[in-house]
Amino acid sequence: SPLEGLDNPGLLRTQALINGEWITGPASFAVTDPATGAALAQVPNLGRAEAETAIAAAANALNAWRAKPAKERAAVLVRWQQLLVKHADDLARLMTAEQGKPLAEARGEVIYGASFLDWFAEEAKRVYGETIPTTDPTKRYLVLKQAVGVCAAITPWNFPLAMITRKVAPALAAGCTVIIKPAEATPLTALAAAELAQQAGMPAGVLNVLTADAAQSVEVGKALCESDVVRHLSFTGSTEVGRILMAQCAPTIKKLSLELGGNAPFIVFDDADLESAVEGAIASKYRNAGQTCVCANRIYVQAGVYDAFLDKFAARVSALKTGNGFEAGVQVGPLIDAQALQKVETHVADAIALGARLLTGGKRIETTGGHFFEPTLLADATPQMLCSREETFGPVAPVFKFQTEAEAIQLANATEFGLASYFYSRDIGRIFRVGEALEYGMVGINTGLISTAEVPFGGVKQSGLGREGARQGIEDYVEVKYLCLGDI
Ligand code: ADP
Repeated sequence: SPLEGLDNPGLLRTQALINGEWITGPASFAVTDPATGAALAQVPNLGRAEAETAIAAAANALNAWRAKPAKERAAVLVRWQQLLVKHADDLARLMTAEQGKPLAEARGEVIYGASFLDWFAEEAKRVYGETIPTTDPTKRYLVLKQAVGVCAAITPWNFPLAMITRKVAPALAAGCTVIIKPAEATPLTALAAAELAQQAGMPAGVLNVLTADAAQSVEVGKALCESDVVRHLSFTGSTEVGRILMAQCAPTIKKLSLELGGNAPFIVFDDADLESAVEGAIASKYRNAGQTCVCANRIYVQAGVYDAFLDKFAARVSALKTGNGFEAGVQVGPLIDAQALQKVETHVADAIALGARLLTGGKRIETTGGHFFEPTLLADATPQMLCSREETFGPVAPVFKFQTEAEAIQLANATEFGLASYFYSRDIGRIFRVGEALEYGMVGINTGLISTAEVPFGGVKQSGLGREGARQGIEDYVEVKYLCLGDI
């Protein structure tokens, strides 16, 4: 098993965490390796009853946690960050085993994920209120910011650690307590991170982790949404599930942070530095085997550089090494499951049937138990194709030809999504025009990689609500309270 090589076997946690205690449940489910199909471990399959216990524990722990000076909460976050970094190799192994991404990429995610704890430990100390100049000499107006309360976080499998810390760090920093429901495919990374949080001195009940399979996740989700004790729900995942959760949160008027699907355009103008655009497209498209919500999904290339771009891009795509993430030099790992593989296959078949030219890749790689797809490049894509309308979430790059700047902007914005977008140009006027015209929460200009803890990550339109990371990231976890002081 790939988990035999852990330096610290205690990080392979196979129980859930409620109120500072590791618990089992009435049943369990298997976590599997997407590169081989092999079972890695069994974890508790929890439901409504355990969700309610966790909510009660988080509610119990709330007063003491939010009453601590921010500096003390920050100290716990910093110790947790340091432990994540110290155990980065083991966490990366767990992540590659259950998620599939290449080991170096997994290690990168551990460092990136840990950085949110650092960042929000600092921000915890800067949750400033304000005083407002009075309009009545007998009164004074004050504004406080206070922790929202008990928070729930439902996270996806594509970033098994970072999607947790990005939510939990600002919540804990603000003084909230949290219940996490990690994705059913990747609970082991979440549980290892929770073990390190315990070692960092997280008080009982402040951080709880509920594991559940796909069916039970729906039940846990309902319990979290229906509770009037839970005041905030943060979710990263598909727009479809985001809509369900939003509806389920309506009866209790819960605060919501949603990071949903994207359909990122990646535009290469005639005046781009082509070498740099190709590198950016490789990084943006094939990272995590194309399974990120900010991966380039539609690549638009202006007519003057279309053929030259395709030549260079095809050479790079066909040289990508695909395989088990534990193998040295592998750049593209397996897809998460059979359904993901099926979707990619469908998108490729549909594009070819509608006239796309296959330049490299195009089919699944037959292995026993693994879910591998060849890094694929399609030219002459059109808006009618599925890959233009839906997020492929796999290693497939469809390239579209366009003529004018106005046409590129129109095509890029013709989607209900608005998460990340990218474009390459060296013309300063165009950089401002296009940067302002793209209806997206994030715009990468002359780069394919934009994520870091210090910047506001999030989308517009049906890609979500709120921002994660940055100074803005803590705002979803505080309520504004106005104090009006009379009789002065
Ligand atoms: P992805 O497409 O990335 O698998 P999903 O939106 O299906 O994303 O899942 C993201 C997270 O949401 C996972 O933790 C999953 O278990 C959870 N989830 C999926 N459906 C529901 C639901 N109906 N209620 C609550 N959680 C759900």
